[in-house]
Amino acid sequence: MKAFFIQLHQKLVTTISDEQKWSLFQHACVYISLGASSAVMTVVNVFTGKGWLTWVTLAFSVACLINLLLTSRKGVPAKIAMMLFAAEITAIFIYFILSGDPDGFSVIWTVMLPSFGLLLFELRYGTCLSLLVFAALIFFFWTPPGQSLLQYDYSPTFMMRFPLLYLACFCVAFLLERMSEAARKALRESHRNYEYLCYHDALTKQYNRFWLQSIIAQPEKYNIKPAAVAILDIDNFKQINDNYGHPNGDVVIRAIGDTILQTLNGSGDLCRWGGDEFLVLFHTDIDADTVCRRIVDAVHAHTFQFDGHSMCTTLSIGLVTTPDGSTDDIDALIHQADVNLYVAKDNGRNCMISSRLGD
Ligand code: GH3
Ligand code: MG
Repeated sequence: MKAFFIQLHQKLVTTISDEQKWSLFQHACVYISLGASSAVMTVVNVFTGKGWLTWVTLAFSVACLINLLLTSRKGVPAKIAMMLFAAEITAIFIYFILSGDPDGFSVIWTVMLPSFGLLLFELRYGTCLSLLVFAALIFFFWTPPGQSLLQYDYSPTFMMRFPLLYLACFCVAFLLERMSEAARKALRESHRNYEYLCYHDALTKQYNRFWLQSIIAQPEKYNIKPAAVAILDIDNFKQINDNYGHPNGDVVIRAIGDTILQTLNGSGDLCRWGGDEFLVLFHTDIDADTVCRRIVDAVHAHTFQFDGHSMCTTLSIGLVTTPDGSTDDIDALIHQADVNLYVAKDNGRNCMISSRLGD
């Protein structure tokens, strides 16, 4: 049971952080709750023999069902459902105000409009719709031409006070919606920050190992099928730390990450694999051999200035390409790239060793 609620909570958090999903979820909730209330009222109306009102509540519950079906199809149908709903709700509430059926009660349902109107149409359009019904209440209850159209004999006190009650409900709903909008914005922002921290390395700002593991674990979500994988390791990096200090070592790792990214120029995804190692997933149709050679040269050409001394460093690369242009077996590519990296180190470093997967 606890696991079910944890899962439900996680689903809700991801839904709220995805703006489109959240909006559809809200719309579905409004249509379901109003459609169900209207269906219940239809049954009550049948048993209490309310004639016309029965047909009106039945028609409204069917309309809510149609809106729900339209909303479940993303894009234009969801917008049509919203416009239909605005027309339906205005029509039914004007009918309620005019008829008062039964015993002047139905008009009380209108106080619900500001809360679900603001939820569904958001602040601007929700306010417009709520104020439209408020204007209708003022017209029918406070002006002689409007009063002459009323089918029910409301008491003067009711007609005087009810629009004020409606206005108070609107103000409360408006404040709540403003607060919930601010909370949703903050939640989306923190979700974005969380995702960034989760998938990026703090030192180099490149993707991290967890990002790559997520790709490997959910290939259908990311749909990344690399054409080649390269593992890049800085040569004799321990000596840089020993000679120039750990903070300067950090500077070197960061600068090399930037150099690799610039040289890749969008031809692959770079992540910091760990320590002084980087990993690149090359996109399809890329000559990974050439790009890797350029990276080796670019890193070698980079000079650093530490405490008045200039130094440069080198990098070794293990590259593996795919015979068919791409593969989703990233694990196999990484393993082979790692083997090639060891060969590059054995061959004296500052070089690239490349092979094809399966050769
Ligand atoms: P090789 O050419 O065989 O790669 O030799 P190497 O000295 O580079 O050896 P290795 O790659 O095993 O060394 C990685 C070193 O990187 C070990 C560790 O102290 C250092 N290191 C790991 N992470 C960081 C970091 O974030 N900052 C700094 N400054 N050093 C790090
Ligand atoms: Mg190294």
